Amino acid sequence: MPEIIIERKPTTEELRNYIPVGMQTLEKKFKQLRVGMEQEFVRKHKPYCARCADLDFKDVWEEKKRELERKVGPQVVVDTKIIFSYPDLDKYGIESRFELKNKTPIIRDVIMDGVRVPKLVGHYFEYVCKERGCGRAVEVPLAELDLAIEIKKGKE
Ligand SMILES: [Zn+2]
Repeated sequence: MPEIIIERKPTTEELRNYIPVGMQTLEKKFKQLRVGMEQEFVRKHKPYCARCADLDFKDVWEEKKRELERKVGPQVVVDTKIIFSYPDLDKYGIESRFELKNKTPIIRDVIMDGVRVPKLVGHYFEYVCKERGCGRAVEVPLAELDLAIEIKKGKE
């Protein structure tokens, strides 16, 4: 029995929403890299502007996607031929990018001798990213602050 194939041309609307598989992979890969980088900064109790990283990526990603569609039509994009360079992810954590706006104490209840007492456990450092004014708050435990002060003293 001969196979019957009904082919339907994608509508303009479908084409507009079409994202080549290779581009989808690139986007996922970027998210993984960015999340990994952000976690590194969280561990170091340093600010990282994930918002700017995502926005910059979105700009180059969309530009690339648009170009691919213009050149060959979205339906014939060869995934292996997509050349794409990610924005440099380190720069979103560079110290000079941020301005410290506020420092607020973190007070949590701790049990001492069976009694619940409020105790200073660290500080929230509230930064503003100079690039787009994004707010970033970082929790710095007291132990880390003491260590930073000691290192500073040692240098004097
Ligand atoms: Zn930012």
